[in-house]
Parts: sequence; C-alpha cells; structure tokens
Amino acid sequence: MDLFQGVENPLLPPESAVSTMRGILGEATGGACTMRITAANHCPVCGYDLGFPAWRADSASDEICPCCRIQFGFDDWDVVNEGERAQIYASWRKRWIDQGMKWNSKGRKPPDGWNPVSQLRLIGVQL
Ligand SMILES: [Zn+2]
Repeated sequence: MDLFQGVENPLLPPESAVSTMRGILGEATGGACTMRITAANHCPVCGYDLGFPAWRADSASDEICPCCRIQFGFDDWDVVNEGERAQIYASWRKRWIDQGMKWNSKGRKPPDGWNPVSQLRLIGVQL
C-alpha cells in the first residue's frame, strides 16, 4: 500500500499551512520598513536571527533563543520600561560573552559557518 497515495509531495506542508504562513509574512512586512522588521527578528541579546520578533508591542514571543538561551517574556519580563529591558539584555549579553559566546541549544544546531562575533554586529555590538 502506498502511504503517500494522493499526496502530491509528502515533504511539503499542506496548502492550508502555506497560505497561513503567507498571511503571517504578509502581515509582518506589509506597510512597514523592511530593515526594521529584519532587525526586530534578531535576538536583542546575541543577535541571532530568530525568524520572529522577540516582542510584538507588549506581547512576548515566550520563545527561548537557541543561541544565548534568554526566554522572552520570562527572563526579560519583570521590567517597567524599555530602558530597563535593554539593561537586562546588556547584562545577559555580557554574561554570554564572558562564558565564551557558546551556542546553547542542544536540540538545534547553529547555522553553517556560525560566527557569534559577526552575529553581534547585526545588533550593533562590536567586540
Ligand atoms: Zn540570543
């Protein structure tokens, strides 16, 4: 019996998932400056391209950065303003750098040719 009978390509997501993704991407880029969206998808601590914004206005992604391990909405939650959050990111970044800028995720591998120093440059941090 052919398990994939009737399925065009089992490796591709179903069309419904693709159109949902298109909707989300369209919403993210529609009318907004692309540069800003791109920068917003980078981890504010280590610069890793998360592929989504750490925060959307007052709503955290609740995701953990696979690189520096900060969890948005948890480790950076207890703050009263953006400036205070920036301080949390700065001290988290300092600790991550002091510990040797290691890739922290065990489940996810770093991108090919991963370079933490050039990654930090993406968020304006020069070492
Ligand atoms: Zn990070």
